[in-house]
Amino acid sequence: MSSDKNDLIEIKCVRARSWQRYPCTVCGGCTEKVDVHAESDALPPKEGSVVAESSTWGWHDVIRVCESCLEAGDIDERLAQRAMEIEAGIERRAAESRQHVQFLRSLVGRLKVPTFAQWEEAGRALSLERFQMELASAYERGKPEKAEAIKEDYEELYGGQLPEAYERAFVAARGGKNV
Ligand SMILES: [Zn+2]
Repeated sequence: MSSDKNDLIEIKCVRARSWQRYPCTVCGGCTEKVDVHAESDALPPKEGSVVAESSTWGWHDVIRVCESCLEAGDIDERLAQRAMEIEAGIERRAAESRQHVQFLRSLVGRLKVPTFAQWEEAGRALSLERFQMELASAYERGKPEKAEAIKEDYEELYGGQLPEAYERAFVAARGGKNV
């Protein structure tokens, strides 16, 4: 691809804005923490946003060429390579999306799910177990005030008494004391 001289974009050596790594437009990598960056003048916002779309580094407000690219020297080749990588990525993601679409469609009519009520019930059962374990642990550690607080929390949440039999059996099973 040959460029009109008027199309040429001058990349100049400028003082780095801060001591950080900055994205490279050419290779998609970034600079090291260096004092001097090779950068164009600020891009018009629209052009910058176009660059940003294909960058893992987000918004590009200038065209920047990292020192590795400068050292390698083959800027045009690197640009073409980077464009190809991004293109391959688009195609790979499109293929993955198509696969996912197929997968979802293959599931239609085949999922035998629990009812919402069953899900709620299972949650209540696990919650009860957790409360009871905490209660048992409070008894084991000889903390009756903590045990009372746990019972109150349970009552507040579920409007019923936390069953005691379980926690006694639990503590006994663990060889605990203070039952
Ligand atoms: Zn680079």
